[in-house]
Amino acid sequence: MGLVVQKYGGTSVGNVARIRDVAKKVVEARRAGDGVVVVVSAMAGETDRLIRLAREVTERPNAREMDMLVSTGEQVSIALLAMAIQSLGELAESFTGEQVGILTDSAYTKARIKKISADRLREALKEGKIAVVAGFQGVDERRNVTTLGRGGSDTTAVAMAVALQADRCEIYTDVDGVYTADPSIVPDARRLDKVSYEEMLELASMGAKVLQTRSVEFAKKYEMPILVKSTFMGGQGTLVTREDQDMEQVVVSGVAYAKDQAKVTVVGVPDRPGIAAKIFGRIAEENIVVDMIIQNVSERGLTDISFTVPKSDAIQALEIVKEVATEIGAQEVTLDDRIAKVSIVGVGMRGHSGVASQMFQALARENINIMMISTSEIKVSCVIEAKYAELAVRVLHDAFGLGEGRPEVKEV
Ligand code: ASP
Ligand code: MG
Repeated sequence: MGLVVQKYGGTSVGNVARIRDVAKKVVEARRAGDGVVVVVSAMAGETDRLIRLAREVTERPNAREMDMLVSTGEQVSIALLAMAIQSLGELAESFTGEQVGILTDSAYTKARIKKISADRLREALKEGKIAVVAGFQGVDERRNVTTLGRGGSDTTAVAMAVALQADRCEIYTDVDGVYTADPSIVPDARRLDKVSYEEMLELASMGAKVLQTRSVEFAKKYEMPILVKSTFMGGQGTLVTREDQDMEQVVVSGVAYAKDQAKVTVVGVPDRPGIAAKIFGRIAEENIVVDMIIQNVSERGLTDISFTVPKSDAIQALEIVKEVATEIGAQEVTLDDRIAKVSIVGVGMRGHSGVASQMFQALARENINIMMISTSEIKVSCVIEAKYAELAVRVLHDAFGLGEGRPEVKEV
């Protein structure tokens, strides 16, 4: 008997009829002979609703209480799904994060999984039950409820699959796979049959919302392939897996964009050792993730440092940096949240030169100004004005020949 972990997102359990449909799919997998663990998100819109409620109560909700609040969404969907499965004649039991032993650190609203014991799950599986697990949540050492960040149910699913040494991890969502670009912006975007962990990591952190970035990190670390499929449309989906030779043939596999970042600039920073360490040390202490960083050429001993952070952390980052700026004698701190990051990603870039310049030229042809650039072995990202994000994605998708009916390999 095999073991499969299936995860269903918020839209897939968005109402009672859909919960029944999910129950049918789960039961089908069970009757095919596999042990089944199902991880579910809160019903569509529920997490947002809870967050809005908190904001109505106070402008700055306490992070611990926030997790206590938003974790309730998943508790509703696991119970309903377990009932729906039972009504189809199979055994099922629902579990919270705590009950399955998901131990995290105490970074509320973005906690990281430290350990999963899963004993309770193994027992349930042994008894022939379908285990229905609440995504997104865990507990810290003192049993405070924590959550894993937006989209965190993906990470619960992959972590569960790793902990139980499952044969497969299937993520069911409202799209039928990972695309060369967001199909709602680029009409001729293609679904990828498979994509490497590394590429998916870049695409996910760049705003391809299909999978939470951490779930891909987890999958990569433990080499757990993830199959992303549509709950509604069927199809073969996209397999996120280890890099192979076919993948290396393609220079650019996808174009992604993200509008959820803001740019903080510290102007007139004294150019001496330890300054960057001080600024970013303080930001790291608050668990704020910094993405791109640039520091310009120093003139007369002064320099400017710009960096991007998630928009949701921008105000806090600004406050921290303002404090540090006063201490180090920097002139000014500014915040710009009307930015977007566009990226091209592909493991095939490793073996090719000129990819970045081709990207810059494509943007230049449309008169799109580049504010920041960063590169990795398999990615080039540019920060541009937010209003040009969609245009940039279309232009780049075209420039690298990613559309339907175009040759897959383009030499540059
Ligand atoms: N319900 C959580 C969210 O909306 C977690 C998830 O859906 O994965 O972010
Ligand atoms: Mg999701």
